[in-house]
Amino acid sequence: APTPLSDLEIARRATLKPITEVALAAGIPGEALELYGNYKAKIDPAKLGPEQGQPRGKVVLVSAMSPTPAGEGKSTVTVGLGDALAKAGHRTMIALREPSLGPILGMKGGATGGGYSQVLPMDQINLHFTGDFHAITSANNALMALVDNHIYQGNALGIDPRRLTFRRVLDMNDRALRQIVIGLGGPGQGVPREDGFDITVASEVMAVFCLATDLKDLKRRLSRITFGYTYDKQPVTVGQLKAEGAMAMMLKDAIKPNLVQTIAGTPALVHGGPFANIAHGCNSVIATQTARRLADVVVTEAGFGSDLGAEKFMDIKARSAGFAPSAIVVVATIRALKMHGGVPREELLAPNVAALQEGVANLERHVDNAAKFGITPVVGINRFSTDTDEEVDWVLEWCRQKGVEAASADVWGQGGGGDGGDELAAKVAQAINAEQNFSPLYDLDLSVDKKIETVAQQIYGADHVEFSTLAKHRLAEIEANGWGKLPVCMAKTQYSFTDDATRLGAPTGFTITVRELIPKTGAGFIVALTGAVMTMPGLPKEPAAMRMDVNDDGEITGLF
Ligand code: ADP
Repeated sequence: APTPLSDLEIARRATLKPITEVALAAGIPGEALELYGNYKAKIDPAKLGPEQGQPRGKVVLVSAMSPTPAGEGKSTVTVGLGDALAKAGHRTMIALREPSLGPILGMKGGATGGGYSQVLPMDQINLHFTGDFHAITSANNALMALVDNHIYQGNALGIDPRRLTFRRVLDMNDRALRQIVIGLGGPGQGVPREDGFDITVASEVMAVFCLATDLKDLKRRLSRITFGYTYDKQPVTVGQLKAEGAMAMMLKDAIKPNLVQTIAGTPALVHGGPFANIAHGCNSVIATQTARRLADVVVTEAGFGSDLGAEKFMDIKARSAGFAPSAIVVVATIRALKMHGGVPREELLAPNVAALQEGVANLERHVDNAAKFGITPVVGINRFSTDTDEEVDWVLEWCRQKGVEAASADVWGQGGGGDGGDELAAKVAQAINAEQNFSPLYDLDLSVDKKIETVAQQIYGADHVEFSTLAKHRLAEIEANGWGKLPVCMAKTQYSFTDDATRLGAPTGFTITVRELIPKTGAGFIVALTGAVMTMPGLPKEPAAMRMDVNDDGEITGLF
């Protein structure tokens, strides 16, 4: 058999329409379009037409069962499903996160879908794109420069340099920068203190950027950010430092959503990309709401499995933006089902229906969880060429017996614009027309520990939650500072319902341990750390970057 084309080769062979044409077809008026070359544009939501006033499109969230380390294809299915819905005649828009450069150079490769379900131009989207991450990095680092300057210039606010909770950021995987000392070199060079870098996508500025509804709300949220504490342990905010104006100024163009197209020509907004652990893992609210003003159906994605991605999408993003999603697609793969059925990684390609029977318990909990938000789940089997019909049919039959709608989709191999996603699109179209009763999982009035317990028990299946001494101390601080009404943002491994990545399937009888709580008062959530969470990843032994190159004509290779 011929070697299949790489994502990059498929992308290169695709014919792109000028972005002006894509915009015209999507009903975007010319004056709302700011061109970045021929195939990318920003949209100014303030300049959309009067008939595009209110967000009205139905939102389809693509989530997944607990994944294997390779990823189960949420982005690929999001793009393919969007294409298939568009092909079926629905006015559709896709909303995705922007890729982070660090992980691309590490092991992930591109994050723009795969096979024949990709957003284009994939190389540009994966590399710098329209500069949004640069703007976010700069706004974050301007704050830190202003903080250290404030301390150097006499520290009128009494900021305790040992109690800063904000760090500098860089869009790179660079473990050497995790713990550093700054301000060395004598009295003229600043005040020495311990510091460190996070990756840009872990910055609260990114989370703020993705939850803000417009420039005014962005500035308000920025001013609310707590970046540290004073010597008498009072929180200090960006507003007290008067830095929100400059930060918002640096983000004024970045907050306009980026318009691109899929291989099939469906319009896609690719905008914002917060971490899915320390933040909520969804593209910007502005992009989702802009897409809802322009289209009848918006297909979007949230990072990690549904225990993290969908839960935060519902309890943080949808609640904060004030919209109700209309369907959840739970992406399942035969290999992930087998892995949860106890099959070791080397044997995942061999047909094994018996392992599916064991592993399907993981999918079942994800499906049951969707119903807890009052939303109809649809199982989407992301078909791989190594899957047998017998295996796929077994999962479809299991879904039928459970009474949950399901379809297998080969959007990677055939594209949603081809025939790969028709059946899934039909099931999703049905689901969004059925009556939904969306409600977030928990009430914001519950105390922070009760909110965490609700998520752990209802979504993860835990018996109870244990708080470390430090976490208990933080709970008291959070209440005392008046932050107790914020939603919680759980940081947990994506590989297991528990906080132990090795416990696969659908475990019961376990405890979730909350180690630390971090208030993100600008974004408006309390991060609950259940394990060690890396906010500055490192590169692996053989970084993907070693296989990447560009020739003398500017053609690149190795970007997956
Ligand atoms: P996620 O969004 O869940 O992390 P992606 O959609 O980014 O997953 O897919 C992860 C990788 O798997 C990509 O390189 C993609 O090309 C590949 N992939 C996804 N679906 C398939 C499939 N059906 N067959 C083969 N490769 C696939």
